[in-house]
Amino acid sequence: MRHDGALRAAGACETVRQVSDWDIVLRGGRVIDPESGLDAIADVAIEGHRVAEIGPGLGPARAEADVTGQVVAAGFIDLHSHVNTIAGLRLQALDGVTTALELEAGVSPVRVAYQAAAADGRPVNYGFAASWALARMEAVAGVPLDGRLDTLLGNMAAAEWQREATPAEVTAILGRLSDDLADGALGIGVLMGYAPAASPGEYLQIAALAAAAGAPTFTHARDMIELAPRTLIDGAEEIVRAAGETGAHMHYCHVNSTSQRHIDRVLGVVSRAQAAGSRVTTEAYPYGSGMTGIGAAFLAPERLGERGLTPSSLTFAPTGERVASEERLRELRRDDPGGLVIIKLLDDDDPADRAMLMRSLTFPGAIVASDAMPLTWTSPEPDPLAWPLPGTAITHPRAAGTFSRALRLLTRDTQTSGAAPIRLTDALSKCSLLPARVLQDRVPAMRRKGRLQAGADADVVVFDPATITDRSSYADSTRPSAGIRHVLVNGAFVVRDADIVPGALPGRPVRAEPR
Ligand SMILES: [Zn+2]
Repeated sequence: MRHDGALRAAGACETVRQVSDWDIVLRGGRVIDPESGLDAIADVAIEGHRVAEIGPGLGPARAEADVTGQVVAAGFIDLHSHVNTIAGLRLQALDGVTTALELEAGVSPVRVAYQAAAADGRPVNYGFAASWALARMEAVAGVPLDGRLDTLLGNMAAAEWQREATPAEVTAILGRLSDDLADGALGIGVLMGYAPAASPGEYLQIAALAAAAGAPTFTHARDMIELAPRTLIDGAEEIVRAAGETGAHMHYCHVNSTSQRHIDRVLGVVSRAQAAGSRVTTEAYPYGSGMTGIGAAFLAPERLGERGLTPSSLTFAPTGERVASEERLRELRRDDPGGLVIIKLLDDDDPADRAMLMRSLTFPGAIVASDAMPLTWTSPEPDPLAWPLPGTAITHPRAAGTFSRALRLLTRDTQTSGAAPIRLTDALSKCSLLPARVLQDRVPAMRRKGRLQAGADADVVVFDPATITDRSSYADSTRPSAGIRHVLVNGAFVVRDADIVPGALPGRPVRAEPR
């Protein structure tokens, strides 16, 4: 409800004020909205779950926060988060994330995943794509599906689901994906790089299905031709070809990690496709190492050399060990194929590697997305609402630090990044507006996210642009970011004065209209 200035000016009594004031006013911050071009000192008034008004001198509110000297912006939308627990999503919230979406791997059935998240509650908004990998595991290898990512990770190393599918199996895969799209899946996640024997024709059929449904696809690319000369088709060429041939919106996940030292070639391929009118979008995260299940096809001992890796390039998260030998790698892949492993791809300490990594972030239209991985507990998993986290969880530092690190490297710490600084509004666009635009044709409600405007969802981040930084590292992977003062999700504080608000679970589903 809007306050009535006339009533207050006339000396309205306290009861009238109570029903007429804003719920929250964030007062005196530097308000930045990349879409409208707003970058000015202003107050932001929130009523219910929406931004009610932005402007100078807004009237009193039931709760006020002085945010002088801070930037106030739309909360970050993470298109690539495999985190699906309250604990992990709180780490993301402390990094400014207000919407965390599982789009690359996806889940199936999505209906089950949405129900489970709603039943537990989530600190940030959540949503899911349909999962090609799980649909394939079901159709080709008979794996029963339960709406959980663990099912995908646990079956990742099994050879059977990765083989070429028969036409009947492809039909079954497409059927499962269609069902999930009809149930409101945000798009189709395609882990093509995990089943390299799947035919390029199957990929085109998936893209055609997505195009017909008006849904984007999110691809972990097949192998680069430079890394695996016998690949059925170069991973980058496959993505842009699908966009050109089917008209589908192809989103290219983490170009930094799948391209390795071929980032410039891949970005050239994408640029040409974009110039030709194809809808191809890209994302990247600012870390030289990747992380996935140790059972991944490309981590087979006999294939490590393709990427210039050795077993010692791998650090196995559940035990913290550097993998000592091919024999140990085989053992871990057999015993715990879904166990998460850090893979050293580019060297974060090498200036040339860092500069290459930054080109994946500064590329025009490139989106910041974390690829946040689930927490692996080395002690019994604590109560879901426990906070602070016991220091016994391991993940990739990108889960806790991607957005703060990207903002630091893009706008401020250019000596470290080796890249020319970009404007803060352009960096924020990569974190909020551009990811919202990837989804808004499929989900019109996304037009109210990624913007800080009257009528937008009150998903807001308040941070100090001079100090915002990641603090997580490979050795201390769950250390929260610093410099972020407040985070609101649907008008409720999830982070207040740089700490988690106990019990705050205001996250809502982001979902296409089920048919
Ligand atoms: Zn991936």
